Amino acid sequence: MADEQPTSTAEHWKPIPGWEGYYEASDHGRIRSVRRTVKTERGQRTFRAQIIKSSVRKDLHFTVGLYRDGAGKCMRVHRLVMAAFVGPCPDGMEVCHNNGDPADNRLVNLRYDTRSENMIDASIHGTHHNTRKRRCPRGHVLVMPNLIRAPWDKRRFRMCLACNRASAHVAYHKDRKGDRDAIADSYYSDIMRDAA
Ligand SMILES: [Zn+2]
Repeated sequence: MADEQPTSTAEHWKPIPGWEGYYEASDHGRIRSVRRTVKTERGQRTFRAQIIKSSVRKDLHFTVGLYRDGAGKCMRVHRLVMAAFVGPCPDGMEVCHNNGDPADNRLVNLRYDTRSENMIDASIHGTHHNTRKRRCPRGHVLVMPNLIRAPWDKRRFRMCLACNRASAHVAYHKDRKGDRDAIADSYYSDIMRDAA
């Protein structure tokens, strides 16, 4: 129940500039579509409101696919949150994560700053180190909690949990193999977000 939660955890939504009426961003770092009805040749069609699943890029930043009039665009979640709540990014600046975690796109964790400040953040928080960490072939960083023990090696964690789940999902649901990568990225987003 919303009124039982402390106000600090209440999620606030704002329209994303340039996507008003289509998508909104929240101060918790989530993106959702807006319920809307569109006139078509045969009458009208209603698009429902829903949370947009994010994917993780190789640089560990989260992206979402936004669609309008049949055309899609891949957008970085941290930029959408800042554009909605703070405004456009000033020239020469970029979005920085205060705690150095690119998976943490809550508004309180974001700020506009210069690239050099962002690099300092990265070295303080070890993001640079992370980019050299071992990765699965899909580019997911092999750190907890995205690690499972390989059955043949009981001492070491060495397999990508996200890709392992995706393989199981594809096998179980008899999905096309081509969907596996997107499913793996989605699992990876969930695993890393739950850990944040
Ligand atoms: Zn993986």
